[in-house]
Amino acid sequence: MDTVEHLVIGAGVTGLTFADWVDSDDTLVCEALPEIGGYCRTIHKEGFTWDFSGHFFHFKHPDIEKYLVDRMDDQVVRTIVKQSQVHYKGNLVDFPFQKNIHQLPHEEFLECLVDLFEKEDREPDNFRDMLYVKFGRGIAEKFLIPYNEKLYATDLAQLDVDAMGRFFPYANVEDIVRNFRKADNQSYNSTFTYPEGGAIQYVQAIAKGVRPEQIALNERVLSIDLERKVARTNTREIQYKTIVSTTPFGKLLQMANVPHDPAVYTYNKVLVFNLGFDRKGPEGLHWIYYPDRDLCFYRLGFYDNIFGTDRMSMYVELGYPADAPINAEIVEERKAQVLLDLKKAGIVTDHQLVADHSVLLDPAYVHITQQSLQDVEAKKALLKEHDVYSIGRYGSWTYCSIEDNIVEARALADMLGASPTEDSP
Ligand SMILES: Cc1cc2nc3c(=O)[nH]c(=O)nc-3n(C[C@H](O)[C@H](O)[C@H](O)COP(=O)(O)OP(=O)(O)OC[C@H]3O[C@@H](n4cnc5c(N)ncnc54)[C@H](O)[C@@H]3O)c2cc1C
Repeated sequence: MDTVEHLVIGAGVTGLTFADWVDSDDTLVCEALPEIGGYCRTIHKEGFTWDFSGHFFHFKHPDIEKYLVDRMDDQVVRTIVKQSQVHYKGNLVDFPFQKNIHQLPHEEFLECLVDLFEKEDREPDNFRDMLYVKFGRGIAEKFLIPYNEKLYATDLAQLDVDAMGRFFPYANVEDIVRNFRKADNQSYNSTFTYPEGGAIQYVQAIAKGVRPEQIALNERVLSIDLERKVARTNTREIQYKTIVSTTPFGKLLQMANVPHDPAVYTYNKVLVFNLGFDRKGPEGLHWIYYPDRDLCFYRLGFYDNIFGTDRMSMYVELGYPADAPINAEIVEERKAQVLLDLKKAGIVTDHQLVADHSVLLDPAYVHITQQSLQDVEAKKALLKEHDVYSIGRYGSWTYCSIEDNIVEARALADMLGASPTEDSP
């Protein structure tokens, strides 16, 4: 039987970062798919560069950004000041909606403003309730609720108050009123970076620190025997000292035979269409949010306005419940609906579609609830007693950015005994 010190499940950003950072040559990354990258993979088609929906990079740690860019050789990484808007009843309003209600028609502006001042002064019970308590009925019902219902594809009352963490654009009454005069729409991703070769460039930069023979492609971990410390894959059994898993947390519990309630781990799926057209669309904008219930997508974005190219190149995102059946026939039907809705929304006029691609992100956004938070914490503690660590967006069953994944994976590598390598910052 093969033996390794650290067995990593998944060659996405998180798993590769761990393998790059840990101070052990005896690390093996098993990746179920034939290629590395997880959700940060890139597609090149007919001169268009697309990801698995927009995957843009925002760094709070300049040392991490430098570490990655220094490994990219001659790759050009663009730095972009974000321009994003909300499509509301046929017009565009600056994002975040809640800070730009003064751009609404007069009556609707007054409605939002009065409701903002008349909102209840109490602690919210859940995510949906939080939207009413923090912003009042007008803002909640015109944008925040319909938009997030389309995205999460669930009853928002099921979600924890803080389900989106730092990614939710909070604003108090003073911020909102001040914004009427002097726009300040800063958010965590006000400036983002994006390599000309797509998101995969960052993954390849991380993977430079991992020897090719340390990555086993097409090797899916199927089960884990916690007592014997043996993992079974589709090709062999592997004796390990520790496991670092990035597979979705519920799946890990299943693989390791840990009794749990699968109903705790709910999530949505996102169907992404990447579309390339023969000529330019709207200029200057990077993405648009769509709360309208009669348009099938909740958000779309423009790669051509990031790259400065002259053919409209878009990603379009549609949210579904986890149990929605999505097969090839449904994908074709949805594509036809997307093209119709793009016309309805005024994005496509007489453009010709010249290339397209679709991918289903399953899971995409996990449903963070009080129950999921408590269960993840308790089950992670139990797994740790068996030297199994679960990290990453799906391994930690959370809402986070790629940089958060890097920080989390490095911290675990440090804890398990890393000493920085020569080219570490
Ligand atoms: C719609 C959407 C948009 C996003 N946009 C952004 C953005 O703009 N900026 C940003 O910072 N973040 C963004 N994110 C988040 C980002 O995608 C994730 O944080 C990041 O990709 C997670 O990396 P990971 O390695 O933890 O997981 P993954 O990318 O899911 O990688 C896990 C890997 O494990 C493999 N695997 C799973 N199970 C097994 C098994 N049993 N055996 C072997 N291999 C296995 C999978 O095949 C996969 O390759 C977005 C996410 C979504 C859903």
